Amino acid sequence: MQEAYDFLIIGSGAGGSAAAYAMVAQGRRVLLLEKGSELPDDGSTLDPILVAGGHFNSKEIWNNARGDAFMPEEHFNLGGKTRWYGAALLRNAPHEFEADTELGLRAWPFDYSAFEPYYRAAEALVGVHHFEPEDDLQRIAVDLDRAGWHMQPLQLGLSPEILNHTLEATHYDGYAVPNGLKSDAKYRLLDPLTARPNLELVLNATVRELLPSGDDPLQIAGVRCTDGREFFAQTVLVAAGAMHSPRLLQHYFLTHELSSRLPAAANVGRNFKRHILTAVIGFGWRIKRDRICKTALFLHQDFPHSSSQPLGGWADRETIRFLLPGWLPRGLVEFFALRAYGFFLQTEDGSHVDNRVIGESSDGSRPTLDYHPERNPQLPREHRGMVRHFMAAMLRAGLLPFKQTIGLSGMAHCGGTLVMGRDPADSVVDADGRVHGMKNLYVVDGSVLPRLGRMNPALSIYAWALKVTQGLLAAG
Ligand SMILES: Cc1cc2nc3c(=O)[nH]c(=O)nc-3n(C[C@H](O)[C@H](O)[C@H](O)COP(=O)(O)OP(=O)(O)OC[C@H]3O[C@@H](n4cnc5c(N)ncnc54)[C@H](O)[C@@H]3O)c2cc1C
Repeated sequence: MQEAYDFLIIGSGAGGSAAAYAMVAQGRRVLLLEKGSELPDDGSTLDPILVAGGHFNSKEIWNNARGDAFMPEEHFNLGGKTRWYGAALLRNAPHEFEADTELGLRAWPFDYSAFEPYYRAAEALVGVHHFEPEDDLQRIAVDLDRAGWHMQPLQLGLSPEILNHTLEATHYDGYAVPNGLKSDAKYRLLDPLTARPNLELVLNATVRELLPSGDDPLQIAGVRCTDGREFFAQTVLVAAGAMHSPRLLQHYFLTHELSSRLPAAANVGRNFKRHILTAVIGFGWRIKRDRICKTALFLHQDFPHSSSQPLGGWADRETIRFLLPGWLPRGLVEFFALRAYGFFLQTEDGSHVDNRVIGESSDGSRPTLDYHPERNPQLPREHRGMVRHFMAAMLRAGLLPFKQTIGLSGMAHCGGTLVMGRDPADSVVDADGRVHGMKNLYVVDGSVLPRLGRMNPALSIYAWALKVTQGLLAAG
């Protein structure tokens, strides 16, 4: 069998693209397979009606634990969810690499200092900037501060040039920016590689299964796609995202009867976690003039696993117009749309082995997400307290707050389903990203995250992919 490539990467989101970038830059022959296609660059990805209406979301139907159908808000396109992200590119704190067993928080298999160089490398690679908090936010921050919500700088993967583009400056969080003013995986990592002969990118290639090498199932030879195409490489890196990567591994372990041979197999899909999220929109008297909005984040010492950051989209006037109920008089809609300031409140979620992704079975059943945040009850409790406290602080700042809890379909920040750890008995990949017991199978996406921390996860995923690829490149 011919191995045309050194590395085959499944998925072009944060993890897959960062790995591809590092490998290609070092002259390795890389094949990147992406299930989706390119997003249109005609401006439609900035249209609130299309975007908030779910036009660009995945249409894949899942079941929840009760067997009810739901549609996770996933994005199958070149660049994965980074095309849609709010580009808050933040590090976890050193203590967020440690365990807190009472809260169900797992340790990373190394400490912050071992990971810090990769955070630095990821920041340099994607490009991060601080923007000065704008006037409206400065004003709100004074009252939030009095309530104990202290403002911290927030680094964004946005070009300072975005300030000259009002549409993009007000629509980057939850929207795909079509001109590279946002540092997403397509513009920042993949586009610079297009002229490189050692990268082959194949779009609309949905990997259905991993293929073994001869009669050794511990060695992966390549993959087969849903349309029957097969691709081969010396090493395979899975980066299909935390909802999808475990499905590929479950299928492989089951088909090749590895479930009883490899202790790690029992952990595949488990420990699913997502930030516990609430969006709060506050309506004030003043017309909002801020554009970027998401220039700072707010922390409170009584809510140590939580953070709040302004929404950099979704609270813009066009989206609010679309989201407000149709029965409201037009004048009132306009009044509110001009005066909305949004915040995204997030709390870390614990790990629980029963919170899990279960892949579709061969009889055509749907994939299932069996997830109850209350399996780790302390952190949802912190979140509820935090939401109440923050809303009271907003009221004090002159904003009448309304909240929207983000339900099960809100998959913006998820991870843990191929969790990294030292012991194959309770984890799936080792500290180098290799699946325990497998010879050449690695995971470079958000599936590996043992803890989400209270910050957004993309920078940690970029950094993880750089760590894994550096290890592979050093090994020859
Ligand atoms: C609206 C929104 C706002 C966000 N804001 C922020 C933010 O401000 N800061 C932050 O840090 N994070 C943010 N995130 C989260 C961030 O985008 C994700 O954490 C990150 O992109 C996950 O990276 P990943 O590589 O694990 O997966 P993804 O980026 O989801 O990439 C997975 C890729 O694999 C592809 N794929 C799936 N299955 C297959 C298959 N079988 N075969 C081939 N390809 C496959 C998918 O199409 C996709 O392109 C946000 C997300 C959303 C949706």
